[in-house]
Amino acid sequence: MHVLIAGGGIGGLTTALAFQKLGHRVTVFEQSHQLEEVGAGLQISPNGMRVFDALGVSARVEKDAFRPRAQELRFGKGGARILTIPVRDVSRARWGGEYLHLHRADLIDALGGALKDRQPDAVQLGCRVVSYTQDETSITAHLDTGEQVSGDLLVGADGIHSVIREQMIGADKPRYTGNVAWRAVVPVSELGEHAPPETASVWVGSRRHAVTYRLRRGSLANLVGVVECKERLIESWSATGAREQALKDFKGWSPVIRTILQKAEVLNRWALYDRDPLPVWSEGRAVLLGDACHPMLPFLAQGAVMAIEDAYVLARAVTTSATVPDALAAYESIRKPRASRVQAGARRNAALFHRGDPISKLFTYGPIWFAGQFLPSFAHGQHDWIYAHDVTTLPDAGV
Ligand SMILES: Cc1cc2nc3c(=O)[nH]c(=O)nc-3n(C[C@H](O)[C@H](O)[C@H](O)COP(=O)(O)OP(=O)(O)OC[C@H]3O[C@@H](n4cnc5c(N)ncnc54)[C@H](O)[C@@H]3O)c2cc1C
Repeated sequence: MHVLIAGGGIGGLTTALAFQKLGHRVTVFEQSHQLEEVGAGLQISPNGMRVFDALGVSARVEKDAFRPRAQELRFGKGGARILTIPVRDVSRARWGGEYLHLHRADLIDALGGALKDRQPDAVQLGCRVVSYTQDETSITAHLDTGEQVSGDLLVGADGIHSVIREQMIGADKPRYTGNVAWRAVVPVSELGEHAPPETASVWVGSRRHAVTYRLRRGSLANLVGVVECKERLIESWSATGAREQALKDFKGWSPVIRTILQKAEVLNRWALYDRDPLPVWSEGRAVLLGDACHPMLPFLAQGAVMAIEDAYVLARAVTTSATVPDALAAYESIRKPRASRVQAGARRNAALFHRGDPISKLFTYGPIWFAGQFLPSFAHGQHDWIYAHDVTTLPDAGV
């Protein structure tokens, strides 16, 4: 098949690698003039790494990554630890893959580089897909350059503001969650004694929380700071905010958080909107994947990983099904329950991290502390349904 892919982000490039591996020809249309990503970090959990293992790209992905020692839950004020779950020495044995922290640009470089080696003409840069038309036997992507390119399948991996989704289903109506996320990346060498620990740490507090972790072999510190905020800001990777506001939002918090906010060259600010699962994922030979299909709040760090899982399942369904409609029906039936469950789990975590009054803090974090101290296997087990999920060994159910 000739598979057209709108969007050269993490979802689009993984889709291209998966189809290419299974013997198809791919064309990725990316609107930017180079394959690039915003300056921010990403956690890739074992369920995503299993796909990279199967696609033979893990060595490239791991090259500049950081392997965190553990996941931690801490109080934002004072920094006391509530829970520590070891991951570095546990991840492969328990969940079947590494748990990594990556700079987004490093991941895009690794995936784009692998694709270029395997099919040098796969990516067309500076090409925005504006619409599609189709008949019984083919689908045509219409580009903003006026060019039209036909293939057997069009994958909409064009992110949260997807034009493929809009044509398929109509304009979406996202709900503002009342949260904005500050984002910053700072060299660890500039943070001195206040460098964040070598862990994936969630710092909790009243109506706000922060996440810190290290990137690029440990040389960079990444911060995401989520704050409840009435003002409706825009949903954009490039929107920025004022340092005074960020410091005000995290007043009295651990110097680990405040030092990153003080040292960051740029403080990005992304408003968090929520969306319900879509009624349909495909129309004829057009199909959605990743954020275009099931955008989710970042509170389980699974949005990109779900796009990676989607990519593998879609390529395999298309390869093993008799017809395209059969393949897309199988893809949706396998992926929808999983993506919707993760979407709902991420929504629940927002409240868990923002407890304010002492009673709800005690009843929320007390049992978590107890489990971490006395039932470590129970604490690990809470992640099994996400991290141990292996799309590379799913039977071709329904395909
Ligand atoms: C604060 C924050 C933290 C997060 N942390 C994590 C994490 O730790 N782990 C995790 O797994 N997920 C995380 N996520 C979610 C993750 O960022 C997304 O789920 C992921 O980037 C989705 O990938 P995608 O390829 O579907 O879309 P995108 O990354 O949005 O890529 C879409 C691509 O398509 C291109 N494009 C768009 N429209 C067109 C068009 N019409 N034609 C051609 N090209 C087009 C864009 O330029 C872009 O390159 C986080 C999200 C946020 C907001």
